[in-house]
Amino acid sequence: MMKKKLIVLGSINVDHIMNVQQFPRPGETIIGSTYQIAFGGKGANQAVAAGRGGADIQFIAAVGDDDIGQRICEQLKKDNIDTRSISKIRNETTGVALIYVNGQGENQIGIYAGANAAVTPEYAGKYRQDIIQADALLMQLETPLSTIAEMAKLAKANNTQVIVNPAPAQTLADDILKCIDIITPNETEAERLTGIPVNDEKSADKASQYLHQKGIPTVIITLGSKGAWVSMNGQGKLITGFKVKAVDTIAAGDTFNGMLVTALLEDMPMDEAVKYAHASAAIAVTRAGAQPSVPWRDEVEKFLN
Ligand code: ADP
Repeated sequence: MMKKKLIVLGSINVDHIMNVQQFPRPGETIIGSTYQIAFGGKGANQAVAAGRGGADIQFIAAVGDDDIGQRICEQLKKDNIDTRSISKIRNETTGVALIYVNGQGENQIGIYAGANAAVTPEYAGKYRQDIIQADALLMQLETPLSTIAEMAKLAKANNTQVIVNPAPAQTLADDILKCIDIITPNETEAERLTGIPVNDEKSADKASQYLHQKGIPTVIITLGSKGAWVSMNGQGKLITGFKVKAVDTIAAGDTFNGMLVTALLEDMPMDEAVKYAHASAAIAVTRAGAQPSVPWRDEVEKFLN
């Protein structure tokens, strides 16, 4: 059987992660306890999750003309990703994230878009035939919003399923919302989109109803260690996650999204696909960093058995 085809459109970053006891205050210099460079960016993390999960996945993105961009592309190929729609942008750096993780496991992140800013509607439009022919398009909000809007419209008009992970938190115009088939905010992002503070099942349901009214049939609000509120056509329920010892939650949401879409493209029923995504994200939480923490399919299957 031919696999269904997924396109991820999104960001590529190199993450510089430093563990500190406490975040530095203005003017303060602090000493880190560990430091790691890891490949990240929400688009790339979700593409890697899909690739390691076994999806037929093509990634539309951009890197700078620096060495790290080259190394990232080589790694993405090893993660089973079709990289022909990733270009090197001249005189630009690859996107960067500077991340502090404190003693409580919380993080503070600064992002420089670099080459990601070059993923304009014109740039993405070079791959319009690929989007039209794909079964699903997965996007996040580290790419210019004008690109998200145009590609969502293009996909919608051509029966390519549109999945948006609205991270980092931003509001979205109604004309984008109405093109989305599945939206997957966390609690903070759900509040930003709807104005409704989300902290329990009741408020998650309220926020979901708001998004349904904007024309989105499926709303999945991830609730960290508690799992996710899954609402389809107005009917919502909690699907619990897995208990694990958390090391850091970097890329938990990204792993969840990449694996969820992979499972749905294999025609797994929604409940089963969410459980599968929970298991994948739970494994990622037990490991440090973004892409290094994303599991392969066999690890997820072992975890579930
Ligand atoms: P984000 O990482 O985008 O903020 P969440 O924190 O809601 O999103 O987490 C996304 C998913 O990752 C959850 O639905 C769950 O499957 C998994 N997850 C996150 N934190 C934990 C945790 N501490 N233990 C187990 N699973 C977790």
